[in-house]
Amino acid sequence: MSQNHQLLSYVQPSPLTPWNTYLTQVDRVLPYLGKLSRFAETLRRPKRALIVDIPLEMDDGTIRHFEGYRVQHNLSRGPGKGGVRYHPKVTLEDVMALAAWMTVKSAAINLPFGGAKGGVRVDPKLLSTHELEKLTRRYTSEIGIIIGPQQDIPAPDVNTNAQIMAWMMDTYSMNVGSTATGVVTGKPVNLGGSLGRLTATGRGVFVSGREAARRIGLDLTGARVAIQGFGNVGSTAALLFATWGAKIVAVQNQRTTLFSGAGLDVRGLIEAAKSGGGMATCPDGDSIEREAFWDVKCDILIPAALEGQITADRARRITAKLVLEGANGPTLPEADDILRDRGVLIVPDVICNAGGVTVSYFEWVQDFSSYFWTQDDIDARLEMIMLKALRDIWDTADRHQISLRTATFLLACERILMARQERGLYP
Ligand code: NAD
Repeated sequence: MSQNHQLLSYVQPSPLTPWNTYLTQVDRVLPYLGKLSRFAETLRRPKRALIVDIPLEMDDGTIRHFEGYRVQHNLSRGPGKGGVRYHPKVTLEDVMALAAWMTVKSAAINLPFGGAKGGVRVDPKLLSTHELEKLTRRYTSEIGIIIGPQQDIPAPDVNTNAQIMAWMMDTYSMNVGSTATGVVTGKPVNLGGSLGRLTATGRGVFVSGREAARRIGLDLTGARVAIQGFGNVGSTAALLFATWGAKIVAVQNQRTTLFSGAGLDVRGLIEAAKSGGGMATCPDGDSIEREAFWDVKCDILIPAALEGQITADRARRITAKLVLEGANGPTLPEADDILRDRGVLIVPDVICNAGGVTVSYFEWVQDFSSYFWTQDDIDARLEMIMLKALRDIWDTADRHQISLRTATFLLACERILMARQERGLYP
């Protein structure tokens, strides 16, 4: 682990935090950066981190306070870009890591963005719709001093959605006195959102998976796929893999783990997940122990829930040949090494789930030009951009004999640090 993280007084000493995972990933790319490594310290520090207090009058008249964050990790290549997470356990340090991965992801796919992320420590499932709207509006006002269509553009992440983006857009617009559709992406299509944004991240996971499978000679027809997390990313990926002929043999969300050797009915699962009873009400498949999910016989594993899920112990038990990181930071560094030594190919988060930020970029461009593209246009451009990035990453990995993760970091960090060098240090 790098010693430099000690310089940031607000980080936790635990080596298992997402921020420390990110720092280890940076350490691994340093030997390949040549003269640009002179600027590498910039990768280890968020440019700006804002902590806000959100006081909220609850429906029962009591007052509660929630803590919110917006971190801009790096803005060398353009405005900040990254989602907003509502989660009862989210911390400033988590948001720093998520913002840093956004910097790397935007550069890896070659979008003109830096990296940012936001979060509020709250369980949104315990709030009424009215409370959720008030929390969102106050959070948006508080971070309004650093976000904007040219400064930093939030989007949905875990437990946030198009409705929350609509409230954010409206609040920001009210505060600046004009409708600013470009301040957030992932909005409803009626409000300047883009067709295809909702499914973009899962689609990107599928495109990455299809390309990786082709390269390792794995036939997707009949391939067994296990997916952790059945929200936006996991359910979209499940549907696309199933449509392509793969079998979704196991699915796990926060409450339920289901298994079916013959393949689960994905549409039925999506309907059940949306219902009050959740996935457990799906008549298909057997409920299994949570930990048994990691032992399921499969060809492809898609972690699409939260960070730090693939530990060293789980990495030793995973049977898949291919891991597609739909979630951000799902694999701990030690687990990464174990999987590599066992010959398991990992398509890392910083490219695998980049479909979301790519279509967010399309949305931002469409809002500026007030000219909207068709779904076919969007899907085709997404695929073209992702396949080009994957080709460049594979070439880099082959050239240096390094993992796809380090290759993605190398491509991205060269672009970020080159921008830093060309802009120069001010003053
Ligand atoms: P979501 O809120 O729609 O879904 C999250 C899913 O994970 C839910 O099914 C939830 O039940 C499940 N989950 C939560 N904790 C779990 C646990 N401990 N064990 C098993 N399942 C658990 O969120 P999402 O937008 O699908 O995001 C999922 C991941 O993908 C996150 O890491 C997020 O940062 C990443 N991501 C999302 C996007 C996007 O566009 N939404 C883009 C890039 C990356």
